[in-house]
Amino acid sequence: MQQKIISSETRLVGLFGNPSRHSLSPLIHNAFMENSGIDGVYLTFEFPDENFDKAFIGAKKLGLIGLNITMPFKENAYRITDRKDTRSTAIGSINTIKFNSSTDISEGFNTDVDGFIRSLEGNGFDWAGSECLVLGAGGSAKSSVFAMMEKNIKKIYIYNRTTWKAEKIKNSYPVEKRVRIEVLEELENRKPESIDLICNCTPLGMEISGLSGLMPIPDGWDLKGVHIFEMIYKPLETRLIFKGKNEGARVIDGLDMLINQAASSFKIWFDTYPEKKGIREKLINYLNNK
Ligand code: NAP
Repeated sequence: MQQKIISSETRLVGLFGNPSRHSLSPLIHNAFMENSGIDGVYLTFEFPDENFDKAFIGAKKLGLIGLNITMPFKENAYRITDRKDTRSTAIGSINTIKFNSSTDISEGFNTDVDGFIRSLEGNGFDWAGSECLVLGAGGSAKSSVFAMMEKNIKKIYIYNRTTWKAEKIKNSYPVEKRVRIEVLEELENRKPESIDLICNCTPLGMEISGLSGLMPIPDGWDLKGVHIFEMIYKPLETRLIFKGKNEGARVIDGLDMLINQAASSFKIWFDTYPEKKGIREKLINYLNNK
């Protein structure tokens, strides 16, 4: 393998998070840069909460191209960023920053919406007239609902174990919007009539104690012909994905979203979408050998 050359021209992009050292983002972005012929490096930075503002200003003053922001710094980033785009303002969350070295201005973006849309469209999902069920009412559910609103689909159902949080998402959109949103209080006796897409935005099925092997929907639902969008990528084949595959659903796993939201950050920093060839295989290989 050819050795990467770091020179005085090499630019830096980083991830601020705590923890951040487990993140797959360096693997993805460094491969994007290599694929796209960009002379840059992506590194992770992990530090205590009280150092956030100094670290942010330091990154800007040192001329970093930009940052990704993850937990627990999302609120800090939202507060300190000079400008925010429409999506991050509507969702109230930033995961990507671009620094403008000539104006000293920082701009904040949320790339989950674009990542979600591109993952679905890349897998042949047709938004027109569709009805979608969102499971969960946390950060990823909120950006998925926002993407669906943007796409003017027919109807969104939201189910969350804590119903008021689903209501809160519903109420955060103006009633005059064409898309209807209905909050479901249970799933067991309530399979929506015609569902085109089911999005799992909960950690149910994730490879962590107590959740591995769990299903976010009732076992008895027939998934034939439905699109299944799974946010979880560890394991790559959750029980939901397994059931979907067996029953003839079109399944999209969490790696698609992970790669596509990263590709949108890359576009913000470098003005071009990256070449994604080989990245998925690289990630699978890495996850299998961890
Ligand atoms: P979040 O903001 O913490 O929201 C989690 C949601 O899941 C909440 O609605 C919560 O319900 C629900 N939930 C948590 N534990 C549950 C349980 N035991 N039973 C039923 N519901 C439960 O998390 P998030 O950021 O939206 O992330 C959700 C999942 O997506 C995580 O697995 C995360 O790793 C994954 N994710 C993947 C990507 C990707 O790029 N592939 C991106 C973002 C997130 P309550 O409101 O009742 O607490």
